[in-house]
Amino acid sequence: MKIRIGKASDNDYTANDPYVSRYHALLFRDAEGCLLLEDLDSANGTYVNGVQIMRKRITLRDKVRLGPDFALNISEALKSGNDYSEAFSSLKSVYDGYVEQKVRIQSSNQFKTRLFQSLPFALPGVIGILIGFMGKGSPALFGISLFIAICAPATGIYMGAKQSAKIPKQLQDLSNRFKIDYVCPKCGTFLGEIPWESLANKKQCPVPSCKAKWTSGE
Ligand SMILES: [Zn+2]
Repeated sequence: MKIRIGKASDNDYTANDPYVSRYHALLFRDAEGCLLLEDLDSANGTYVNGVQIMRKRITLRDKVRLGPDFALNISEALKSGNDYSEAFSSLKSVYDGYVEQKVRIQSSNQFKTRLFQSLPFALPGVIGILIGFMGKGSPALFGISLFIAICAPATGIYMGAKQSAKIPKQLQDLSNRFKIDYVCPKCGTFLGEIPWESLANKKQCPVPSCKAKWTSGE
């Protein structure tokens, strides 16, 4: 990635200012991926935080000025080079978070579903033992235990089904959020359920009209 900045219209980024040279400065990344700003022997100089430079590592927070008046917006200049690597790298945590949440929803619901379904089956057995301990058993107690034996499994199946019905809803909400967040930082196209590393290997957006660069470098 090399972004040439200056007054001439054939620059990557055109700076319209009378004190900016035709080819004023160059913005690029070094081997370590750091941003470098280089003055191209401009007439009025390039300044970083008020200090004139020939070549300097910069960050997005630095104040860059070309000549006496022109304040350069570094992020804007980077966009002219179609470089979206900074915004793209932040998508890694979006993808990782999505996968983590999905696993959590699925496993927690599976556990609750099983619990609801198995507990009521165990309950009548326990009650039967209790009744046995309470003596020879009266018809009323027998009636109650029979009632529980019939109702408890039905309740368990109902609650288990209700719990498992929550899964699609929670997963749907998660997937909706993911579709909004996991998009190309330039064109906004949803990137699909493709791991971030695979996308990084593609290096750029596959949308023909976009082709935003996702990784820095040439
Ligand atoms: Zn794109």
